[in-house]
Amino acid sequence: MAAARAAKEPAVTEAVEGVPLPDPDAVRELAHSPAQARVRGHMQRLAENPEAIPQVILLEGGSASDRLSMALFWTALLHCRGPEPAAEPAQMSMLGAMAPVPEAEPEPEERPCLTCTSCMQALTGANRDLYLLDGREEMIKIDAVREVRSVLGEPPRDHPVRVIILAELHNSRIETANALLKSLEEPRPGNSFVLLAPQRERLLPTLVSRSFVLTLAWPHGEDVQSASDDGETTARLAEGFAVFLETGKGWFSITGGKGAVSRNIGLGFCNALERAILAVLTDRAGSDRLAGALASRLDPQALRGLDIAVDQAAQALGMQVNPALTLDWLATRAVSLARDTTLRKRMG
Ligand SMILES: [Zn+2]
Repeated sequence: MAAARAAKEPAVTEAVEGVPLPDPDAVRELAHSPAQARVRGHMQRLAENPEAIPQVILLEGGSASDRLSMALFWTALLHCRGPEPAAEPAQMSMLGAMAPVPEAEPEPEERPCLTCTSCMQALTGANRDLYLLDGREEMIKIDAVREVRSVLGEPPRDHPVRVIILAELHNSRIETANALLKSLEEPRPGNSFVLLAPQRERLLPTLVSRSFVLTLAWPHGEDVQSASDDGETTARLAEGFAVFLETGKGWFSITGGKGAVSRNIGLGFCNALERAILAVLTDRAGSDRLAGALASRLDPQALRGLDIAVDQAAQALGMQVNPALTLDWLATRAVSLARDTTLRKRMG
């Protein structure tokens, strides 16, 4: 399999032998799917200025394979050199006026091309500047983190930035996360860490606070059945939340059934709500039902208040607080913020 085989030098990537990376075609398809346009756009903007690349990105949401695919996409984005010209323009252009003009650097939004050698090396893991610490089937070992730490001070080998992916980091022991934290304490330019986990709440808060968090769209289709069932419930909650915000009615009958809301569904809904808040604050509510309700009832101050409440709710869910009660609290909080908004409007 293509699993990082050619990356012989960094011993840590040997850990992925036998567990295949996502197929490059699947990465291409996911990376260009409309559902992931938001994350893709964020990544492209983040990569525009190599000096300003976040030290740590946390990719949450989606399926495990989606997260790894987008992490490989990020690697390709940082390593892409653009489509290779057919001839050898550098030499030929020295020969005179008839020479083809060397291809221009691709525009940021066209990166990564996902076809050039650098992109292919990123997608197949055959890359000396890509470290994959793979927690998909086994926990990431603390030794692997220490080994990566030992190379952080060295410049990357073939590209401007070294990428260190920690896949499904939430499956690892707390010591491993702590070792990682130590690696992040002293900023090392030229290194980009990518942490993958279903939800940020499943990682140490100290790791999350150091991360630029990007939330992938939820998986759909029969890809992950339980996730798609959860997605359906999340959609019902979103609709109910919108109605409750507008009319003050109907919410408790949704969450009231015994076991109607699981912890995962609660976290999924928190993610959806957070995305909707972000969409409204950045003027991209579009036709989204939940975002539309938020936009009509909450002013920016209230939206920020709700954002904090969502964070608190997600933390409570992480600490095993009853999911239905947590979401009820969140919905009530939203209605109260809507009232504050109305009062502020009346007072001009
Ligand atoms: Zn490329």
